[in-house]
Amino acid sequence: MSSVEKEAVATDGPVVSGKSYDATVLAPEDAWIAGVDHEAFKSDIRALGKELHAQQGPADLAHLNKIILWSRMSMVVGFATMWYCINPISIYLLSLGCMTRWAIIAHHICHGGFDKCSEGKYNRFKFGVGSLYRRCADWLDWMLVEAWNVEHNQLHHYHLGELQDPDLVESNLAPIRDAKSSMASKYATVGFFIMTWKWFYYAPNTFKMLKLHEIRRKGQVPKYKNGKLMTSRRLEAPAMAYSTGVFFSAAELYGRVLGPFFFRNFVLIPAIAGLALGYNAWFNSLVSMVLAEWLSNAHSFLNIVTNHTGYDLYRFDAACEPRSATFYMRQVISSANFTTGEVGTFWGDLNDFTHGWLNYQVEHHLWPDLSMLSYQKAAPLVKAICKKHNVPYIQESVWIRLKKTVDIMVGKTSMRKFPNAWEHAPDLTSKKEAVESQPLEQKISAAN
Ligand SMILES: [Zn+2]
Repeated sequence: MSSVEKEAVATDGPVVSGKSYDATVLAPEDAWIAGVDHEAFKSDIRALGKELHAQQGPADLAHLNKIILWSRMSMVVGFATMWYCINPISIYLLSLGCMTRWAIIAHHICHGGFDKCSEGKYNRFKFGVGSLYRRCADWLDWMLVEAWNVEHNQLHHYHLGELQDPDLVESNLAPIRDAKSSMASKYATVGFFIMTWKWFYYAPNTFKMLKLHEIRRKGQVPKYKNGKLMTSRRLEAPAMAYSTGVFFSAAELYGRVLGPFFFRNFVLIPAIAGLALGYNAWFNSLVSMVLAEWLSNAHSFLNIVTNHTGYDLYRFDAACEPRSATFYMRQVISSANFTTGEVGTFWGDLNDFTHGWLNYQVEHHLWPDLSMLSYQKAAPLVKAICKKHNVPYIQESVWIRLKKTVDIMVGKTSMRKFPNAWEHAPDLTSKKEAVESQPLEQKISAAN
């Protein structure tokens, strides 16, 4: 239990909301909760989702193809120039190509955003999965695509802001938040994490979630090798690059998961440059690839980790039904948008491209299977619906969100705890049931 939680528990008399799930009185920041008409909010959000989904077609596919070209060109120009001398432009382009391939292209295709309008070309059941060849051709990164699909599409999207959400930064960083160490050492730890998180934390943790998913699909419960059942604390604690032996072997993690990307980026590509153009080209290429790796970790951290973290966003005690009014409300009040681009403009697309299209996080969480173009159209409309229903809709510069995220990581601030007494009871579901029965199919479609 963190110091903040202890403080809340120790309070006598009425408990004001914010720090405790058991609050009995709403704080001014939470006063809006009492006035929400859940069913009316749900019906407005669902109607808009259906409308946007029905509008998707050739324009969305053409837009995807344009963004794929931008991402590929970033990589190609980066590769073509990095060997000559170590320079920031090549490094930035290599980093940008890697970040956008993940955050924009793979992310939206893996959610099924183009299953229909691409006529099967970009299908979530084929993209990057099933073979090493498909992974290399579609999306080769530190994470295994199958593992990403389970961790992100299912656990994160269905359990946003709950303990079962593997991306709940406040919970994952509890050891650092509660540590007695100095602020300087906490910032240094966060700095290390920002530069390395994709391979150090994200790839192993997504792989762990895939392993747990496979165990549960067989109808089994997770156990240690000696037959002892795993505690919920063990199941919720994030796996790191050193966490081998419990959920997976070192050979599986370093060979199957991390190996292909490491080999391509730090062995094969510099070797090709060296064989074609000599020792200096090999050296410049290798150093550029390493620096681009650090930068791409930091850039994707800036766009991804900051989406759901900050003292002004909520976390929740109980699980809720997908597509319920509570589900939709949680996606809004536990997500932050960044600066968004104007639909149909070059500068709008460029803004969204550099933000990894994660600047529409509210809209993406309401309907994860829409296209990037749909999110541009949706943002002003969702903002208007939230205003109508008095549901807080947060949109700020990504740099402000970074500051708020780091404050949570080092324990300076805490997320708001949504009070249980104000949960819309018909929408809640048994927490245990929600964890044990991960859905096999995406149920939270805009089309439903
Ligand atoms: Zn997503």
